[in-house]
Amino acid sequence: MRNKSATLLLATLSFAVCVAGQEKPQDRRKFLDPATPVSDDPRRIPVKPGPSGPDRFLVLRGGRVFDGTGAPAREGTLVIERNKISKVLPVSSTDWPKNAEIVDVTGKTVLPGLIDLHTHLTYPLSETDTAKAVSESDATLRAVEKLRYYLESGITSVRDVGSQGDVTFRLKEWVRENRVAGPRVFPAGVFITAEGGHSTENTPDELIKMQGATRLASGPDDWRLAVREQFHKGADVIKLGSHFSSKEIKAAVQEAHELGLKVTVDSETFYIQHAVEAGADTIEHPLPRSEETSQLMAKKGVAADPTLIPYQIIFEEWGGYFGSTSRRFTFSNNANLQMLRRLKSTGIKCGVGTDLILHWYRYLPGPYIRELKNFVAAGWSVPEALVAGTKTNSEILDMDDRLGTLEPGKLADVIVVDGRPDLNLDDLTKVEMVIRDGYTVVESGHVTVPRHKVVPMKTAEKKP
Ligand SMILES: [Zn+2]
Repeated sequence: MRNKSATLLLATLSFAVCVAGQEKPQDRRKFLDPATPVSDDPRRIPVKPGPSGPDRFLVLRGGRVFDGTGAPAREGTLVIERNKISKVLPVSSTDWPKNAEIVDVTGKTVLPGLIDLHTHLTYPLSETDTAKAVSESDATLRAVEKLRYYLESGITSVRDVGSQGDVTFRLKEWVRENRVAGPRVFPAGVFITAEGGHSTENTPDELIKMQGATRLASGPDDWRLAVREQFHKGADVIKLGSHFSSKEIKAAVQEAHELGLKVTVDSETFYIQHAVEAGADTIEHPLPRSEETSQLMAKKGVAADPTLIPYQIIFEEWGGYFGSTSRRFTFSNNANLQMLRRLKSTGIKCGVGTDLILHWYRYLPGPYIRELKNFVAAGWSVPEALVAGTKTNSEILDMDDRLGTLEPGKLADVIVVDGRPDLNLDDLTKVEMVIRDGYTVVESGHVTVPRHKVVPMKTAEKKP
């Protein structure tokens, strides 16, 4: 029989293990040795071994390399082999194979592809056009159009945190197979919330159902089921929105974590506290929260995706944020900037997302640049803001082993900017070249689509 203190110790230990198990996504990587090839997404599904990306060496010669690690830009040459970064060479070196394709980028800056943590690719362009909003065909085409805007802005990955039906899951695959031009898509699927929660304001249930971008859930079991539905369709992340009960969000977060997915939550005031207590990985938006909640975020390593820019657009274009039951607090540009400053000073990891609903993607690259400037206004340096949009965003995505920096072995998501964005963020308006997964997808600032490869017919032509 165990003595009393040993029993107590064991009980404490198993409690600690149990709590830790619920806190973070289950790290499924510990069951996969590095030699096992897996999908380039947070799901990490074993895939057939074999080369990926175009069969070539691509050399970006003689530019300023801003590698996203936090090191200052330096003169150098980037060598890409197929879909991976192979070397970062000193500018004097020519250590690449003879048959490599060489692009002279002298005077330009080479940096990791930018990441946007908050998109809604299928959302409609105007608030009134319900007929088109409910059409899944139109939703798909809206998303396809938006992808081009992100890509030409140097954004090589988007985390889509709420879209209609299966659209983002399918687009993720089509982009990966180079059948549609776009950034990598990391989809959440639909937005999960309760009756009357955020994204349902002023909309009848029937229309919410028809629009298909929000899943209403009720009770812990249904929240769990809603998470499983997104996982089943292919989600890389789970998006939840207040309101919810503590039990509901706990069930949803635990389910997502056991499936190996991170959870991001759109919430405000005490709902942020509930979400953080439940083990959420990221909190969206700069919405009010108590000092206690901020401290708990820092303590538990919960990241923030502050998204000041959509509210700047709302305040400037609409004169205020009106009529929403999920935004019942004093809300202003100044309060949001103060919140971003507080997140930074509390030591909370902050990523970059733009949440461009309606037609606002047409403002790109402006909103992304302005969000980086918001970071600078809140105390980041310009290079630190760029690191937030690349390296930090890759960490928040759970993709930092593959994306976010220019280091050998990482996936070749690379942009070339005609300027020095690490000194002047406005130079990000001059994205000249974009490489995603080793493929050149933007040249001279335009999306480039290679001519299709003809597949030979199997039957020979018969002479009459
Ligand atoms: Zn949003």
